[in-house]
Amino acid sequence: MNQTILETHPILDEARTRSSETYSLANDYLNPSLVEVLSLLGFDVTYERAEGCCLHGTNGNVYLDMHGGEGFATLGHNHPDIQGALAAALEAQIPGGVQIQFHALSGMLGEELCSLLPKPLNSVYFTSSGAEAVDAAMKFSRIATQRPRFVSCQGGYHGVHWGPLSICGERMFQERFEPLLPGCVQVPHGDLDRLEDELKQGDVAAFIVEPIQGLGVNVPTDDYLLEAERLCRRYGTLFVLDEIQTCLGRTGKWFALDYWGLEPDFVLMSKSLSGGYIPLGAMITRREIYDKVTNTLDRCYVHESTFGRNSMAMIAGLATLRAIKDHGLVENAFERGEQLRAGLRNLVSKHEILKDTRGLGLMTAFEFGEPRSLKQKVHWKAIHLASPGLFPQLVVIPLFRDHHILTMVSSKNDVIKLLPPITISSEQVNQFVSALDEVLDDCSNAGSEQWNTLFQIIKRVVGKTSFQGS
Ligand code: PLP
Repeated sequence: MNQTILETHPILDEARTRSSETYSLANDYLNPSLVEVLSLLGFDVTYERAEGCCLHGTNGNVYLDMHGGEGFATLGHNHPDIQGALAAALEAQIPGGVQIQFHALSGMLGEELCSLLPKPLNSVYFTSSGAEAVDAAMKFSRIATQRPRFVSCQGGYHGVHWGPLSICGERMFQERFEPLLPGCVQVPHGDLDRLEDELKQGDVAAFIVEPIQGLGVNVPTDDYLLEAERLCRRYGTLFVLDEIQTCLGRTGKWFALDYWGLEPDFVLMSKSLSGGYIPLGAMITRREIYDKVTNTLDRCYVHESTFGRNSMAMIAGLATLRAIKDHGLVENAFERGEQLRAGLRNLVSKHEILKDTRGLGLMTAFEFGEPRSLKQKVHWKAIHLASPGLFPQLVVIPLFRDHHILTMVSSKNDVIKLLPPITISSEQVNQFVSALDEVLDDCSNAGSEQWNTLFQIIKRVVGKTSFQGS
């Protein structure tokens, strides 16, 4: 690691000195509503260092990160293997962003990614974000099929740029941004008949779906995605698998598609791809589809982006793939995921407020259900009337405040989603499960401080805002 760059630069010194101004700066120059939400939840701490699954607060606390930056920190924070590769690249002054050239690094990363996917997927377009990868797949499939429409799933999430937003299955993200892209239809997740009704109209360019829906961690039935792929083939629609959240070991396989032996026309990835350092995404498709977009020399540049294959992102991507292989992280994700859900299943049988746990690998959710005891039931109804998505804060807030564990509500429902780094240890999984058990014990007393905290928050937020993640 290059200590000179990472520890003694005057900009870093200034940021350390000004860390007490973090939230006033964010309030003045960034997103004041988000600042207010973080303050209401008690999440407005500042972190001075992050390592593996741990965030070190300037308040002296060490927090266990079970949210993993929504998949950003799949390899844990500041993984030394990626850090080493980036430090070496900086030292070597490798060229990045020359645009009218290629560096071997981008071809190498493309080659390694394709080697992990079904054979027909052999052509890569690099982006700087997940939404950009989704947008690229929409454009490429429109050209490849010469068809206008797109089908996606209710409850799905694909990012907030115009294209991805138009296929988003959660109205809240779309409201007030209309008009969206025409010809985008959402069908219920898991409903093959409704999907076929749309596809048989013969004008659908692509069906875009997450293998596991990120917003609610909705795992499909065993036949759903295979059948959807078959329907796409039958009606000439391209099958786009959005693995932006599920890629690279997250679900206990390299890709979630490996669970069902899928052969989509596109696979999209991002989030974990650069090991949590440099913005990076990828759209991977078949050569004949890619060639339809850039098929003549004068069209070679019709779909490129400035930061798409910048060298720092490419080397971070390569180092990420190698770290996952070298440290057996796919296997770890599978085993720790099983351990986590076994622990959660015990809690579901013990605590009436918990209804379900589900997931694959280290993409896991637990869901709350209406309690049976009268006083808690009344509270449950009042909280849901006040704001959907607020109830899980009953657990999220004390987990953070009292146990120093970071979790997050998953959209406007009763689900807490866990996306911890896939480097997590067995001890850390146990630490989480016992802390959650304690918090849930406290919840069983409807007059406890936890309920009071939540009601105080409701008083402040009603009519003003609500809480959700993506
Ligand atoms: N697709 C899925 C499945 C996602 O989970 C996300 C982000 O949460 C996106 C697309 C959008 O990615 P980004 O936020 O990098 O634009």
